[in-house]
Order: sequence, then structure tokens, then C-alpha cells
Amino acid sequence: MSKRTVLIVEDEPGIADVVRQYLEKDGYRVEVSGDGARAVDEFARLRPDLVLLDLMLPGLDGFEVCRRIRGQGSTPVIMLTARDEETDKLVGLELGADDYITKPFSPREVVARVRAVLRRAQAGPAPGDRVHVHDLEIDPARFEATRAGIPLDLTPTEFRLLTALARSPGRAFTRLQLIDQVQGYAFEGYERTVDAHVKNLRQKLEPDPRHPRYIVTVHGVGYRLAEALDD
Ligand code: CA
Repeated sequence: MSKRTVLIVEDEPGIADVVRQYLEKDGYRVEVSGDGARAVDEFARLRPDLVLLDLMLPGLDGFEVCRRIRGQGSTPVIMLTARDEETDKLVGLELGADDYITKPFSPREVVARVRAVLRRAQAGPAPGDRVHVHDLEIDPARFEATRAGIPLDLTPTEFRLLTALARSPGRAFTRLQLIDQVQGYAFEGYERTVDAHVKNLRQKLEPDPRHPRYIVTVHGVGYRLAEALDD
């Protein structure tokens, strides 16, 4: 199997170098870009398997880079942020980032997150049968989801979220249960990150995202996939 490529977008050479070393030791091919605008070009050229994206960059900031990368497909993105502000993280997640890491971080933590995100993205959800509920078809093996036969362009995180909900229509999941399904590892417990992902998913899934029919909010609990679609 050929090496997986990670694109590090980071303008601090010291940080980029140490992360590169750890990732290379773990068997990844690594490219580094220190400028936001150039990183978007590099992304198009390299087609990496994953992007580690710093927030504060010269050229374009990390949010804008994320938006442009998202315009080109569903490659997993992990945001690196020096700011420990929840709003930054939520904006990143709303732009479709799959995870975020707050600086200062240990390079080992980065490697663990990269592995986890790639495992989720490339192995897909637990091997399993296709899920068919209402007019949704989800094929975990092929990582494809459609509604009424029309493909949904979901990020890996959104895909896992939808799959988890759709496997048990009518079951109310707490946000923590959904974090567990989606992240696949113990996480800081930012329950609101689930809300950000659900919001994105609804934008893509729901005919009218302001009045969701598929993914229903269960007040005081979390979310469930509707057992029946009301008209
Ligand atoms: Ca920076």
C-alpha cells in the first residue's frame, strides 16, 4: 500500500518540522506549505489524504483555506489553533473541519489524531451492511450516501454521524454518544461540536434545513433520525 500523504499548512517552521518528523516516522509522506494561498494550490496538486491546517497564516487564513479545500472534495482537515476559543473551533467545524488540535500540542497527539481521522475517513464506519431508511441509502463500504437517489457530498465526520443515526431510526442519541460514534476515541467533550456537525449535515440533507424532518432535535437529550417523515 502506498504511503498516505499529509499536507501540513503551517507558517512556523519549528512546529512544521517537528510534526513532519513524527509523521514521517509513523510512515506518512509529508509536504509542508507555509502560506495560505500557496497551500490551496499545493492541495490541488498533491491531492493529499489529510490536511493539518494552522489557523493563523500569511496569505489566506486557515478558515478561508479550509473553505476552498472543502470546495474541492471531502479530504479530512484537522485544524491547528493557537487560540483556545470555542468559537474558533466551532467556526472551523462549521466549515467542515473534521477535528481540531489546540496549541501547544504534543507531536504524539497530532500523530494519534491523524491516524484516527484517516481511519475514520478511509476505513469508513464499522464494516456493515448498507443502511436504507426513508429515501436515504447509505453504503459504508463505498462511503456513499444518497437521498432520493441524489448523492450527498458529506465530510467523513458528517457521514459517520448520519450513519450512526440512520442505523437506529427513532433512537435518541445524546451528544456524547454521537461524539463517541463520530470521533471513535475519548474526546474533550465539546458537546456543541456535535451541534455544528448536525447543522452542516442538515444543510446538505434536509430539503428545508430550518425545519428538519430527517434529523430531529430531542430537547434536553440530543438528536435522532425521524422514524417517520411528516409532511
Ligand atoms: Ca501560524
